[in-house]
Amino acid sequence: MSEEVRKTEQEWREALTEDQYRVLRRKGTERAFTHPYNDIKEAGLFHCAGCGNELFSSEAKYDSGSGWPSFWQPVAEEAVRTAADHSLMVHRTEVLCRACGGHLGHVFQDGPPPTGLRYCINGTALEFESQEQGADSE
Ligand code: FE
Repeated sequence: MSEEVRKTEQEWREALTEDQYRVLRRKGTERAFTHPYNDIKEAGLFHCAGCGNELFSSEAKYDSGSGWPSFWQPVAEEAVRTAADHSLMVHRTEVLCRACGGHLGHVFQDGPPPTGLRYCINGTALEFESQEQGADSE
């Protein structure tokens, strides 16, 4: 499946912060327990920081103890794609945004029910949209 959002490396550099560029476009990994999204428990949606694509819902977020935001499923099957990753001499499954190809993190088989999957995602690759009923809605 082809990606809808295409930019040159220069355009990505200009559109993203340095950290976002390093994770999304260079497959970097933020340090564990450093991103505020690791702890966030509000209701809301996590979008791709690169293109705005809806990726994960707070309903599938859980505390894996890994230090990275963790989800047991994406918001939709079509939201992400996966690819084999053989870097670091181990086999892992990389998770990418289906719309822009940005690197998000990895998916592992040690997640909770009902899927048994753990989408281990860099908070840096996400943009949170709160859906809490709050003072704003009055
Ligand atoms: Fe994206």
